[in-house]
Amino acid sequence: IDIMNWRKIEMTERTLAIVKPDGVNQKKVGEIIRRIERKGYDIIAIKMLQADEKLLRQHYAELVGRPFFPGLLKYMMENEVVAMVVEGDNVVKGWRTLMGTTNPTEATPGTIRGDFGRDWPGDEVRNVVHGSDTPENAEREIKLWFPELKR
Ligand code: UDP
Repeated sequence: IDIMNWRKIEMTERTLAIVKPDGVNQKKVGEIIRRIERKGYDIIAIKMLQADEKLLRQHYAELVGRPFFPGLLKYMMENEVVAMVVEGDNVVKGWRTLMGTTNPTEATPGTIRGDFGRDWPGDEVRNVVHGSDTPENAEREIKLWFPELKR
């Protein structure tokens, strides 16, 4: 790939990153922020908050009917979460690469979920972090979690 075309496929994007309750409980907030910054991304907004059921039902609208949804709600309300708007070139895909796959048992060592996730039989999947899956979902989720952000 030549360098002129390389510049063209870089896309500055924003994504919603969340450190879930198990990440906060395990004191991994600093480590996760370190990985985001080490990759060169900018954190343009950040806050700690207790998610409520209304917010989570909107955030996970596609998953509301799934059998695991009640467990997901309970898990996401076990403690406060740290929500961030992260900006950078191709950050939607790049943040998901840093996160690793949904199931921590399958997630590659070196990814956040591979290093810190827990997936025990009969328990909730505790996979430490959230990241938007598309740029369109990122914009929707950022509006939901950061309605005060005016840019
Ligand atoms: N989830 C779960 N069990 C499942 C699938 C998903 O507990 O079988 C939870 C898990 O916390 C996951 C979230 O629901 O991170 C959202 O699911 P999605 O398929 O969107 O995965 P993600 O994009 O977070 O990797």
